[in-house]
Amino acid sequence: MKASADPAVSAIVLQGNARGFSGGADIREFGTPDAVTEPNLWTVIENLEKSGKPVVAAIHSVCMGGGLELALGCNYRVVAPDCAMAFPEINLGLLPGAGGTQRMPRAIGVENALNMILDGKSVKSQTLAAIPEQALIDVVAESKESLEAEALAFARTVAKRVAPGGHPLLRDRQSSHEKGAGYFQFVRNMLPASVQKLPAPKACIEAVEASSTTPIDKGLARERELFMHLVESPEGRALRHAFLAERAASKIPGVPDGTATRDIRSVAVIGGGTMGRGIAICLLDAGLPVTLLETAAAQVERAVESLRSHYDGQLKKKRIDAASIEKRLGALKTTLDYKDLAECDLVIEAVFEEMSVKQAVFEKLDEVMHKGAILASNTSTMNLDQIAGFTKRPEDVVGMHFFSPANVMRLLEVVRGAETSAEVLATVMAFSRRIRKAAVVSGVCDGFIGNRMVEEYIRQAYFLVEEGATPQQVDRALVEFGMAMGPFAMSDMAGNDIGFAIRQRRAVERPELVYSKFPDLLYEAGRYGQKVDAGWYDYVPGKRAPVASPAVEKMLKEHREKHGITPRKVTNQEIVDRLILALVNEGAKILEEGIASRSGDIDVVYLTGYGFPAWRGGPMQYANERGLYQVAQTMKALQNSVRVDREFWTPSPLIERLIGERRQLV
Ligand code: NAD
Repeated sequence: MKASADPAVSAIVLQGNARGFSGGADIREFGTPDAVTEPNLWTVIENLEKSGKPVVAAIHSVCMGGGLELALGCNYRVVAPDCAMAFPEINLGLLPGAGGTQRMPRAIGVENALNMILDGKSVKSQTLAAIPEQALIDVVAESKESLEAEALAFARTVAKRVAPGGHPLLRDRQSSHEKGAGYFQFVRNMLPASVQKLPAPKACIEAVEASSTTPIDKGLARERELFMHLVESPEGRALRHAFLAERAASKIPGVPDGTATRDIRSVAVIGGGTMGRGIAICLLDAGLPVTLLETAAAQVERAVESLRSHYDGQLKKKRIDAASIEKRLGALKTTLDYKDLAECDLVIEAVFEEMSVKQAVFEKLDEVMHKGAILASNTSTMNLDQIAGFTKRPEDVVGMHFFSPANVMRLLEVVRGAETSAEVLATVMAFSRRIRKAAVVSGVCDGFIGNRMVEEYIRQAYFLVEEGATPQQVDRALVEFGMAMGPFAMSDMAGNDIGFAIRQRRAVERPELVYSKFPDLLYEAGRYGQKVDAGWYDYVPGKRAPVASPAVEKMLKEHREKHGITPRKVTNQEIVDRLILALVNEGAKILEEGIASRSGDIDVVYLTGYGFPAWRGGPMQYANERGLYQVAQTMKALQNSVRVDREFWTPSPLIERLIGERRQLV
């Protein structure tokens, strides 16, 4: 405003700070009064357009969301090569709400703009500059370094050359598609089934369509209406919660910001089985040197062979080039001798799940690892404090619980032992970002956050088939709810022999925990799951698609008869209630015990490790959205209606307390 009014100023150049031109809006403001407080982005853009003087955006790197919309309101854009430009709003259940859906189609055409808005992914500036007849980018600068000088020179030139008031504005251009409404309908039809029920993609299409059917001011008004509607939608709230929860997970009680971290220059992995291999790939992909230790040459060979075959597969899919593979495998050393690990700064143990084996490994590590090295265990079920007790440095011991396949799954549960130091925790959390994991801290308990909850979920699934549902009905109801996969398909994938082993252990450790006996029958019949083409489903050899199994149906019928269970009709609502609210109740207990420090942490675990739909924000956000009173009422109704283990449906004391205080899970 000041520059517009100052007669000494002939042109205005806008540029960002060191981090980028602009990353866009602060999403914590959405849905709060701060989002509309003046001067808001709409007003700023309006004023820029009315400035009369040439306004040039000088974009040197990241330019996203609201930042990109601001740039679209300028007369000209001078852009450095390799700038990442994007509308990431769709990932948060929103649309670009400050003119992006109206000005971008006028800049790069309807199709290109809609693709960018629906993808949410960043596009390089040179790709955008190459679009025929585009009006987005006026100049691609020589380099980032020369951008400022080039933008200033450009501004001076246009200030002299173009008459005042004659500077181009995107709002004055046309937006149209030759196929008209037919094109937009086609895009709607082509939305993947998984997003069909979400409001944001449809709203994006409608807004861009409006750019081509109405004058710009009407289009902007429609965009704003749609935006406001999305901000208030449960899906939008859930997606924003998911985004913020993942960021918040890095803050750990008792570990203040600025806690010193240790350097991790190289990593050792103990055990080259399923997990060790996946972890090694994840580390090599992040550019870290890895030393893998095994018990015998044959095991080493098998592990290296498997890594090679993984990278060959990636090469065939063109996800990596040969030179990068050589570089990664070149960073891998293997050994049978602990002395070769001494200089590594972090060691991740992934040996057999037996305490005696863990003990031998940790005693040896304590002997050889340099002072200050971090000793991590990937154990799923063992007590980390007991493992830490095998060393004379329990403060350096931490859990790093990866999920399988470890190079693919984003979740990493960082297990905090009673003595794990703040420095070690801060280091592992920072390290998790380097290896691109979503890290969540869990206290020590059986199953940590994720598996402890999933056990309750699966227990309910077993009860339901006993009571009358079929495995396929249960799976279908959960997939319709939005889960990536139902519990029975998941069990078949993980192996029903593994579930059996867990139940055997439970019978000793927690005899009070009631289980259906039916899954044991499956195990005894050798129906271990996908690996033997028979589990809860049948499988055509070599294919992964589950097929309803008449054999399982017959076994179920006999089992019910034997136990005098009259099968009843189970509704999909009951299936969702029993499985998802089982997660909620156990999650609330985990929160109350301090195993998780925030309900958002639990949500991150489920969103990144268990296929929970992002647009529901995680089980705890689901409970908040449904209303805790309503959740507790449903649990109490189940207490009266389920066949066994009614006790489980007592709402956790935390839920009851929060209802009384009219608060939510946080
Ligand atoms: P696995 O049986 O596939 O591999 C274990 C490997 O450790 C084998 O290659 C074995 O030769 C090696 N090994 C055994 N004793 C050793 C020793 N003393 N020194 C060096 N190497 C030794 O097992 P996995 O599935 O990879 O599981 C490993 C660990 O990861 C376990 O603690 C398990 O609980 C945990 N985990 C497994 C999964 C999963 O889905 N498989 C997920 C998370 C965590």
